[in-house]
Amino acid sequence: MSELYPWLKPLWREWQSSLEAERFANASLLIAEPGMGSEQLVEHFSRAVMCQNYPAEACGFCHGCQLMNSASHPDFHLVKPEKEGKAITVDQIRQCNRLAQESSQLSGLRLFVIEPAEAMNESAANALLKTLEEPAANCLFLLVSHRANGLLPTITSRCQQWHLTAPESESVASWLSEQLAGAVPAYAAHINANAPLSTLAFIEQDQMSGYLKLEAQLLEWCQQRGDALKLAKELSVEPITHLQWLWYLLTDAQKVHYGIVMPFFTPGAQSLCHLLDYQRLYSQSQALLALLEQLRLHTGLNAELLILDWLFKFHEETCS
Ligand SMILES: [Zn+2]
Repeated sequence: MSELYPWLKPLWREWQSSLEAERFANASLLIAEPGMGSEQLVEHFSRAVMCQNYPAEACGFCHGCQLMNSASHPDFHLVKPEKEGKAITVDQIRQCNRLAQESSQLSGLRLFVIEPAEAMNESAANALLKTLEEPAANCLFLLVSHRANGLLPTITSRCQQWHLTAPESESVASWLSEQLAGAVPAYAAHINANAPLSTLAFIEQDQMSGYLKLEAQLLEWCQQRGDALKLAKELSVEPITHLQWLWYLLTDAQKVHYGIVMPFFTPGAQSLCHLLDYQRLYSQSQALLALLEQLRLHTGLNAELLILDWLFKFHEETCS
């Protein structure tokens, strides 16, 4: 098994002591942003739970560990959408509920990992609720969510919650500099929500130059130069990612207005602060959040047009 990423270790140690004390809740919810490598933590956990020799880690050679190695442990169930991006159905959850009533095959614990938990549709979530209310002994449910506000509050409130927090920008950058044997600026981590694996992909796919180009174009546009149509077109190639980057730029510039300057700020934050007053930056970043939410919820919108509308608001007269 691969060694855990350094930022996963604190939570893993907490889980281990909870397992050792036999206090791990029957219903648990792990909340982790994408790009944090949470699957590695879940794998460590699953193997530890299924091991017959140790309570909080996998020995690697017992019958339980061998079955996990060959992905055929009858007491371990990974519940995920049948196709990526699709829902986890009520039938899948009913199947879990049935299995949870039976006794385990290897007389140890039964483990159900549901990932991503927000993929359960409403009837699936309701079907799970009853099982979570009266969990069978020797049964563990681990729900993994990458977007906790996509879950029914009734589900969330029945689970013990664990948050996998992102490391600081500087430590992500120094970890990446080691991995890639080259300097990585801290803002690369910052605009990727400090998620180390997303930042790694960002660097490897050479998206840094893409970001800097968009930043330069936005600065030009804020100086009443530049081409809004061209910028809107480029932003709409991958609208959610690109607009998120700009959201960091805008909020950094707002902090510069307050005299706050951090080493991980986006390179254009200072210039943007000189170009726009605080109020304009604030209203544009709020509008950007609303736009992002709109694009996330409704696919098939004309992103280019919506972005263009947002760009024009940079120069709108403020009405009083
Ligand atoms: Zn073992």
